[in-house]
Amino acid sequence: MSSRASSTSGSRNRRRPRPRRTLAQRAKATLARVRFASGERIGGMELSPRMTRAQQRALTFWIRRLPDDIVARLPRLKLAVANRLGSAQAHVFINEAPQDGNRLLGNHLHAVSYISQRYVVFQRDLFRQRVELGRILYHELCHFLWPRLGNPRRRSYQAALREEFRHGTRGELGYSSQWRKDELRANGDVSRRGGGRRALWRDYVCESFCDTGSFVLLGSERRAKHSEYTLSLAARQRRHRWVELIWGVETSSNGKRNGAESAPPTAS
Ligand SMILES: [Zn+2]
Repeated sequence: MSSRASSTSGSRNRRRPRPRRTLAQRAKATLARVRFASGERIGGMELSPRMTRAQQRALTFWIRRLPDDIVARLPRLKLAVANRLGSAQAHVFINEAPQDGNRLLGNHLHAVSYISQRYVVFQRDLFRQRVELGRILYHELCHFLWPRLGNPRRRSYQAALREEFRHGTRGELGYSSQWRKDELRANGDVSRRGGGRRALWRDYVCESFCDTGSFVLLGSERRAKHSEYTLSLAARQRRHRWVELIWGVETSSNGKRNGAESAPPTAS
């Protein structure tokens, strides 16, 4: 994907002074706007020195209450803040309104994770909502846990979701998994093997894991009546147990009382 762009570099052709870059490459390059060399370290994460004190304090609160076992599984991450996060065809542009030809593309995102660069970037307005910041931080952190679970655990979560589909379980624990679930349902049998559909299913499984992980990690801070928690109580309890099993972390025996909650979720 990235090698194509170098074909015209060094050319003297005046009409094309710069190599053409794909939308994905242009989007990825905008991460440079918030990258930083070093910042304050909190629990294996570094906070951008360009954050305000209030932003640093808000993130520190959510990081400190994470169970130690979860922190130990995360890679070293850098957390940064952007004034604006825009998306175009699933590519995120930092501090730039993305353009595709003459069209200005939009969509306001709360946060984005760069898995291989180990960055999480938050849109600054998110800091106005204390618990939403925690919910979204935890969701993003789960994106870094997912690839480290290994195939057997990922497969077991996938099997659990297949079971839910078979039983017609409705609802989810976040919008990221909900819209993918809706799309999968709208297109018929979940086990069909079309290429695009398989990718959508894979994305769904990952987003569902992240929404569920965030739900579990919020514990006592969770807003029971959050509009994105639409999964039934029984399914929430099953998911809670699956996530504990997959993590191999029994949240009830975790030393941090204010970490993940100590009992299956109650009705909302
Ligand atoms: Zn996600």
